[in-house]
Amino acid sequence: MFDIHRHLPIQHEVSLPQDWQIWFATSSPSEWETLATLPHNPLWKHGYGLSSQWLSTNSASLPELDNYIEKLTELLQADPLGYLGEFGIDDRYIENFPLTKQISLAKHLLHIASEFGRPAVMHHVGTTTTLFALLDAVPITKPIIIHGFLGSVETGRQLHQRGCYISLGPRVWIQKTRIKKRLHEFDIPFCLETDFPFVPGKIAGPADYEIILKNHYKQIAQMLKIEVEILEERIDGLTSILTYW
Ligand SMILES: [Zn+2]
Repeated sequence: MFDIHRHLPIQHEVSLPQDWQIWFATSSPSEWETLATLPHNPLWKHGYGLSSQWLSTNSASLPELDNYIEKLTELLQADPLGYLGEFGIDDRYIENFPLTKQISLAKHLLHIASEFGRPAVMHHVGTTTTLFALLDAVPITKPIIIHGFLGSVETGRQLHQRGCYISLGPRVWIQKTRIKKRLHEFDIPFCLETDFPFVPGKIAGPADYEIILKNHYKQIAQMLKIEVEILEERIDGLTSILTYW
């Protein structure tokens, strides 16, 4: 199984399956050191991220932000399992972390991803115009994954043309979403994610992780009217593109 986006283990979290491909994400500098304490497993990747949400509540001054970026770059360079994520654009936090700053940080981090040849996992809440303008302004040499995608088939295609992959979380079927009705129309590859422990509508418990990812695969397979094994095969095919750097 492949989970392209979840967060660090929660307290008392039980068994993390050793044979699953898991991309752990972080949102703030205090989490970066924790990545090094995860049991070593080449299938588990380490995301170095700075989220707009965190920056909006910790309104960093520019020199501070520069220090964070410098530290993040050092850690990424020293960590062969490292990628960039999560970071991106979120319209809900522009009051305390203005959109122009969010865009310039995202551009900076995408340049770092390209420089070090690592993928990036991006968060996006806002207009597609802003997202496309951002992506068109940076070199894309490694896959960029737009996580928690809830957009249209057309937006998905336009992202794919730009070298991006979309990732679908359980929100697609837990909530009433437009994407749910049109999932069978997606003719582009997509990844699956749990965003654990952030499960819509519930507080995730320490034993829930495996159940959530397995159920996510099952629900998506049902929506596509295919066997879970076929879905697993499709997703496994993607790992070879996304996971080796
Ligand atoms: Zn997340």
